[in-house]
Amino acid sequence: MKIENLTNYDGRTVRKIVTRVANGVEVDPSLVVVNYVLEYPPELWGGLPRYVTENAAFCGYAQQFSRSVGLFLNYPDYYPAAWSFDGRLKLPDLHLQDWQEALVCVAAHEFTHIRQFDQGDELTEREPSYAEIRYLEDWRQGKL
Ligand SMILES: [Zn+2]
Repeated sequence: MKIENLTNYDGRTVRKIVTRVANGVEVDPSLVVVNYVLEYPPELWGGLPRYVTENAAFCGYAQQFSRSVGLFLNYPDYYPAAWSFDGRLKLPDLHLQDWQEALVCVAAHEFTHIRQFDQGDELTEREPSYAEIRYLEDWRQGKL
């Protein structure tokens, strides 16, 4: 899996988190880009206005046809930060301690969308949101 880290965050840690969360999901030859929230591609803004803001703890995309994934984090001093799910999901806020926890969550979310594409599942936000919670818990317990 090719990972392009365009942030100043430690590349080894970025690779470790992304590959462990991907957990065998094959995106090669596509690319996983890791960048800052404010660098979210403007052409993709239309679909995700709520998440794409300088006040987002993270945001991301998973593209079905190119099989590319984008993972966007905020700057280091933004964390710790709270993260609210879409209210319709009725899930408690996440409290992210640092950028690593944000990366775990956004990677869990977007790779779950890739799995939905691969399995022909309906593209919903529920399963990716549950994945954020589950992977974050694993990360905090050293199980990832
Ligand atoms: Zn989503």
